[in-house]
Amino acid sequence: LVRIAGVNKYFGDTQVLHDVSLDIAAGEVVVVIGPSGSGKSTLCRCVNRLETISSGTITIDGVPLPAEGRALARLRADAGMVFQSFNLFAHLTILGNITLGPVRVRGLSRAEAEDRGLRLLARVGLADKADAYPAQLSGGQQQRVAIARALAMDPKVLLFDEPTSALDPEMIQEVLDVLVGLAAEGMTMIIVTHEMGFARQAADRVVFMDDGRIVEIATAADFFASPQTERAVDFLSRIL
Ligand code: ATP
Ligand code: MG
Repeated sequence: LVRIAGVNKYFGDTQVLHDVSLDIAAGEVVVVIGPSGSGKSTLCRCVNRLETISSGTITIDGVPLPAEGRALARLRADAGMVFQSFNLFAHLTILGNITLGPVRVRGLSRAEAEDRGLRLLARVGLADKADAYPAQLSGGQQQRVAIARALAMDPKVLLFDEPTSALDPEMIQEVLDVLVGLAAEGMTMIIVTHEMGFARQAADRVVFMDDGRIVEIATAADFFASPQTERAVDFLSRIL
């Protein structure tokens, strides 16, 4: 579904992605881990075209990433991204946040978008918050809204960049539970996270990055049981 092939990325003279290649099948959950500065966020942002790549190719469903215009807006809907900071629109209600994109980008009627939005809010356990404003919600609730907002666009793949790292400990699990549910339903996801218990439980494959390179790709079971590189062993010994 997502094909990343030979991708290099420079910021000025600094190369931050080195020949990164990764194929993600429909329904697959890939967890990306690695030390700070290893290029995890940059890789996600390239797939969503928040960053341009310097060379290589990225295709979604066989289609190369578009450069601009309406095609780019549709790509961002197809490859929805959820960030560490929830990025909700403060002046819109929860339902308003969720219906904006489907109406503007997917061309749904307001009634269709609201109907869909209310169902998605129920699915993330927030049916009673439709008319609230983001500031009235806890961090964990806001992040679940951000996930519902991405789902409302009917994405082909969802990208998560450390979706729980801005949350208080007691709120992390409620967000991870939503992700586990999505994985069980077959949503294709790329998830950058430091939650190793979650990676073990929900990931089909683990991608370990270091210094802008993919150093290891393995099934979650294999990666945690027997990491193949010294760098991965070292990383796991520090994080677990
Ligand atoms: P973390 O775990 O801390 O989030 P990361 O693995 O997500 O780290 P990236 O944010 O992708 O790492 O950064 C990779 C490298 O690219 C780092 O060296 C960073 O300093 C550099 N970098 C990221 N964004 C920019 C930018 N906009 N301009 C210049 N350099 C950048
Ligand atoms: Mg990052």
